[in-house]
Amino acid sequence: NILFVRSFTILVLIWIVMKPEVCFSSVLSSLKALHLQGYITFENNEFASRDFGNQIHSHPLAVVHPKSVTDISEIVTHVWQMGPASELTVAARGHGHSLQGQAQARGGVIINMESLRQDQEMQVYYRGVQFPYVDVSAGELWINILHETLKYGLAPKSWTDYLHLTVGGTLSNAGISGQAFRHGPQISNVRQLEVVTGKGEVLICSQEQNADLFHAVLGGLGQFGIITRARISLERAPKMVKWIRVLYSDFSTFARDQERLISASKTFDYIEGLVIKNKTGLLNNWRTSFDPQDPVQASHFVSDGRTLYCLELTKNLYPEKFDTVNQEIEDLLSQLSYIPSTLFMSEVPYIDFLDRVHASELILRSKGLWDLPHPWLNLLVPKSKIQHFANEVFGNILSDTNNGPVLVYPIHKSKVDNRTSFVCPDEDIIYLVAFLSHANPSSNGTDSLQHVLTQNKRILDFCEVSHLGVKQYLPHYTTQEQWRTHFGPKWEVFVQRKSVYDPLAMLAPGQNIFQKSV
Ligand code: FAD
Repeated sequence: NILFVRSFTILVLIWIVMKPEVCFSSVLSSLKALHLQGYITFENNEFASRDFGNQIHSHPLAVVHPKSVTDISEIVTHVWQMGPASELTVAARGHGHSLQGQAQARGGVIINMESLRQDQEMQVYYRGVQFPYVDVSAGELWINILHETLKYGLAPKSWTDYLHLTVGGTLSNAGISGQAFRHGPQISNVRQLEVVTGKGEVLICSQEQNADLFHAVLGGLGQFGIITRARISLERAPKMVKWIRVLYSDFSTFARDQERLISASKTFDYIEGLVIKNKTGLLNNWRTSFDPQDPVQASHFVSDGRTLYCLELTKNLYPEKFDTVNQEIEDLLSQLSYIPSTLFMSEVPYIDFLDRVHASELILRSKGLWDLPHPWLNLLVPKSKIQHFANEVFGNILSDTNNGPVLVYPIHKSKVDNRTSFVCPDEDIIYLVAFLSHANPSSNGTDSLQHVLTQNKRILDFCEVSHLGVKQYLPHYTTQEQWRTHFGPKWEVFVQRKSVYDPLAMLAPGQNIFQKSV
């Protein structure tokens, strides 16, 4: 008996030691044996363990470069059929502009969605349809969609501030910018999706067809399927926009004007805002791209040491309104209470305005500053708490805004379908507050990663202790308990949808919401 127990124990030990090796090599050869129209790489995959945040680096086992939806379905089906015993996970990677490894998969399979886009044409539908739309690959960059649709005098209605992001990547979050007050975020401007679920099925979904899947994947953090195509609503595009900036020294006046503008029927076409703290020569810097309305007064304005709030607006310029648009802008501005000497305007092509962050990217890249760590913190703050938040965070916690822009602007919650997976506080008006910091890895000062992370934590702690009901946007948590709190009343539906569309929990492991069942 003793002999039997000993030999059994030795066998178990050998199996435990050998198992990962055996599994690993069989997984590898099974992936190599797949017949894809695209291809798989097992080496030189470092790009897939990097993202814009530049803080988390998880290496995948393989990267699939799909040429078709069938390729994606094939790979997901393959991993699904391996069953719960395999630890293999799958993550779609859009443009990899996540902040904390959300598009990574340690030891898993990355699907490089940008390969898919190269083989799928964009189709613009505008003749004979009541509302124009474009059908695109989910790996397509928004900038390319803009270029294509502008050929027809059309453009998507809702944007992000930066356009070198993929459709699948932003729709998995929300896609919020200064047009969201009117059109809702990008997830509110999608008519139909094609999705490969966690079981490898290819499904078309919309408000009318497979509606539950449609709502699940919008804002779904990649948890329910891989979006492979999207149908996006379009509107008439202006050729030029009037771009306006004004400053406030008092937050409540600034916020009141923002709220008035987003709720008025006649208003601007883009409404955002910035917090500016302790910036030197601010208005002088603006002069390179904007004209001050009162140059003399503007030159006497001092920004150093002050906390200021910049309201940023645009008005679309259409030929038939050229005669009246200036008067319209004047009327709108006359209702606002900004500091008069700080009115700056410029007129730029629509495409230049929308692609404005790319212009800064090129400058930062040339100085080697684009690839720094980006410890961003994005929050959704209910209107009833924004003043309290501003007093403490902009007034006390934030020492300056020299580590990157701080955005603050309101949107209407009614513009977001509550059936989607997107989470935001339960009030009519919600403020997006975005701390878009970069960090200098070789610094010990106020631009060090540690300093920015500590500041982010102080902001989050303050929100929690003060019960502000704030939600993270582009959320990052490390425990399921935190995710449960984040989703609040939506958690049960989220879990239930996961069990239907990705029962093995193998999709988008970098979000850290579910563990693949082993
Ligand atoms: P990735 O980082 O590649 O992926 C993000 C997540 O989505 C991952 O979990 C991934 O697995 C999943 N995913 C990717 N593609 C698919 C797919 N096809 N199907 C299912 N899941 C998928 N956001 C805003 O809302 N407004 C802004 O103004 C804004 N500005 C930004 C500016 C910059 C400079 C940067 C870096 C980011 C900005 N973002 C903004 C955030 C951005 O929208 C998200 O980080 C977005 O996820 C990035 O898109 P991506 O293609 O790089 O996605």
